Amino acid sequence: MRKLLALIGIVVVALAVVVGAKTLLTPSRQLDIAAVTPVPVDAAAAAGRLGQAVRFKTISTFDDENANGAEFEALHAFLQASFPKAHGVLQRETIGKYALLYTWPGTDPKAQPYALMAHQDVVPIAPGTEADWQQPPFSGALRDGFVWGRGSWDDKGNLMSIMEAVELLASAGFQPRQTIHLIFGHDEEISGRRGAAQIAKLFKERGIHLQFVLDEGLLITDGLLAGLSRPAALIELAAHSSVPVINGLSELSHPCQGLTDYFTLREKVGPDLRGFHIAYVGDGNNTCHSLIFGAAKLGAKITIGAPAGYEPDAEVLRRARREARVTGAKIDVLHDPFEAVTGAQAVYTDVWASMGFEAETERRREIFSPFRVTKKLMTAAQRGAFFMHCLPAHRGDEVEAAVIDGRNSIVYDQAENRLHTQKAILLVLIQANQ
Ligand SMILES: [Zn+2]
Repeated sequence: MRKLLALIGIVVVALAVVVGAKTLLTPSRQLDIAAVTPVPVDAAAAAGRLGQAVRFKTISTFDDENANGAEFEALHAFLQASFPKAHGVLQRETIGKYALLYTWPGTDPKAQPYALMAHQDVVPIAPGTEADWQQPPFSGALRDGFVWGRGSWDDKGNLMSIMEAVELLASAGFQPRQTIHLIFGHDEEISGRRGAAQIAKLFKERGIHLQFVLDEGLLITDGLLAGLSRPAALIELAAHSSVPVINGLSELSHPCQGLTDYFTLREKVGPDLRGFHIAYVGDGNNTCHSLIFGAAKLGAKITIGAPAGYEPDAEVLRRARREARVTGAKIDVLHDPFEAVTGAQAVYTDVWASMGFEAETERRREIFSPFRVTKKLMTAAQRGAFFMHCLPAHRGDEVEAAVIDGRNSIVYDQAENRLHTQKAILLVLIQANQ
């Protein structure tokens, strides 16, 4: 015994020595970055120019692609007059009538180009709100150290800043190593199809592959709610983010909904959902996946009734079942809706064609109609079983009106709880990030 203890002691000491030595010998990977020297900028003149840019009523509209054409043209002329040095080095093209594409050729033709983006257009002033403006919306007034008016922030502020920077650099004789494209669309507020999308098409035709694009961002926030369909995009976003990224809904999962659903059930039956039987009938989609994950965490029992070929994702099931071994949760996938809801305390369904699958609606209607949640199906569940749905629902498709509008439907509680649960998620994440 003593020998064994001595041996363990030696191993521990040896390990400590190795780890200590490694720690001391491993150099820091912190990049040493010199502080940027502030560039002298004539802030008053730049603010004045932004104020002038705001005065052009470059409002984009869906119906008329030539609406306010003269305003856009006047803005273009103003840019040319205000930034002569920039226009000396930039090649300028007009795309889709009013979108601007500038190219600043780099010194290294082999280097990958990148793009700086902003948009010229602004949204209209909601009728009847003119009097609410502290300064007239297109005044571009300079008051109390601010430039006032529609577009001063979104997005002429960015557009003018880019032009100011190019003007300064061009005046100093600078030429970039990488070619830089400036992309100033004229219909960003109404989808960008006439401007940015045409420029993207043009780049494709010209074989231009950008290294990166820097576009108008959001405000600086404490968190980010991403509505990205591809899980990989979400992971990528989180990897590059310094703030928490919340999955607002992806093709794989819908955790905000799942948390809300279990919160709603806890309100109804109490905090302990171990052994609580929830049946999910229909498409094994993102909502279903999050319900499975939730059941696994809470030790609940979930039975899925899905048509063959529309079962939940195998990897989701594998992971959830691994967790279920610890929590005592039960997860079953069946192909008979009646069997699935037998004895259930809550019956859940979702639309047959989720977002992105609308094209398959007709085919899906055929496959899923035996999985409609009807009064008859509900009789197989426990007496008084809750009906749940993440909404919006299609009455007559996945659920009968008599069920969703019936006494045991808790769909509006779920909907209301989305608000409270989302606030709780933000609170938890922001506190954890501080
Ligand atoms: Zn914008």
